[in-house]
Amino acid sequence: MNEYDCIVVGGGISGLVAASRLGRAGRSVLLLEATARLGGCVHSWRPTRDFWLELAAHTAYNSYGPLLEALADRGRLAELKRREKLGYRFVAPDGRLQSPIGRLNLFEAAWSLPFGLGRPKAGHTVAEWFGGLLGKRNYRRLLAPAFAAVLSQPADSFPAEWLFRRKPRMREVPRKFTFEGGLQGLLEALTQGAPFHVGFEAQVRGVQRSAGGFSLDTGEGPLTCRQLVLAVPVDTAAALLAEAYPEVARILQSFPMASSEALGVVLPRTACALPPVAGLIGVDDDFWSVVTRDPVPHANWRGFTFHFRPGRLNREEKLARAAAVLGVDPAHFLHVTESVNRLPAPGVKHPGRAGEVDALLAGQALSLVGNYLNGLSLGDCAERAARETDRLLNL
Ligand SMILES: Cc1cc2nc3c(=O)[nH]c(=O)nc-3n(C[C@H](O)[C@H](O)[C@H](O)COP(=O)(O)OP(=O)(O)OC[C@H]3O[C@@H](n4cnc5c(N)ncnc54)[C@H](O)[C@@H]3O)c2cc1C
Repeated sequence: MNEYDCIVVGGGISGLVAASRLGRAGRSVLLLEATARLGGCVHSWRPTRDFWLELAAHTAYNSYGPLLEALADRGRLAELKRREKLGYRFVAPDGRLQSPIGRLNLFEAAWSLPFGLGRPKAGHTVAEWFGGLLGKRNYRRLLAPAFAAVLSQPADSFPAEWLFRRKPRMREVPRKFTFEGGLQGLLEALTQGAPFHVGFEAQVRGVQRSAGGFSLDTGEGPLTCRQLVLAVPVDTAAALLAEAYPEVARILQSFPMASSEALGVVLPRTACALPPVAGLIGVDDDFWSVVTRDPVPHANWRGFTFHFRPGRLNREEKLARAAAVLGVDPAHFLHVTESVNRLPAPGVKHPGRAGEVDALLAGQALSLVGNYLNGLSLGDCAERAARETDRLLNL
């Protein structure tokens, strides 16, 4: 007899949306999270009682339907906080701040657009498709650094079909939003009074197929379930499935990962003369991007997260670079933290491989959700989790 109808492994957005939907459908659900914190790539650092700063994902949109549905189930939709509309600036190699328009060659864009519009994205890299849309020079000067900032990794080889997919919008909520305590607060809200249990600091080390489902090793005796949802990074999923589903694991092993190093700094509003911006984009710089707290302004503090390229600078060098970009003395940084983010780095063949994974899992009580089978954004993850949950519920 299985202890649970369903175990969900991983407490990021993918696992939380899946657990919410399975629990709502009346299944007995246990969600296991390896760390003491929910969120995964949604990581709101809270250095003081009333200030938070996003160390990874920062913006959610009203097109993220299944995420909003899960929040509506908890009766918390009205608590969404609007993010103010602010622009992005490029940090040119000479240190000047430039607007996106300042880096756009209008003549090249006007020449390329009629040929670039309406072409299918499938089978094309971001560099090919967007280079065809605005022209190669515009791609190099404007789009390549902007997309690398979005993905926190080089974007050229990324599959074009997995970047900026259009989804229906829920007009009654703000177009861009966050939550009390940051986006992590939103994910935490999904578990409050939720129809599923959460086990923290429960790292799953092994998955075995058993008579009526699965047996999971967490180091504290086996846990059993009829259906299993893996909502972990792709390399972890590959390792966990190596024995139970070797063919699937082999495909997952072909998905590379990229990392970036986040440095979060908080300083008094009065110390920094930089005008309010949503973020800064590095051009051939040590960082891909800087994400600010300015769209959700605080009366006393400003916060900036620098997403550095991995392995380039040590902590002191990062602090010096951050201070130079912000035009302040590092002594003004009242709170500082560091963390590492990891994301898949798929190429143009990976959407096809995701299709192969789905074909192998058709009819199976195992579901893979996450940011490597449908695109990286929170909306893509939530959409995948909703689709896979419906599949499990219909088995
Ligand atoms: C720097 C950065 C900025 C981003 N900005 C945005 C943005 O603004 N908007 C947007 O839409 N998207 C953004 N994204 C993308 C998005 O945040 C991620 O793709 C998404 O959050 C991934 O969610 P997930 O649940 O699939 O995986 P993860 O968030 O990686 O969660 C996986 C969870 O599984 C747990 N886990 C791992 N192994 C085990 C195990 N063995 N047992 C139990 N638990 C385990 C982990 O601890 C983790 O909590 C950003 C990502 C990064 C890194």
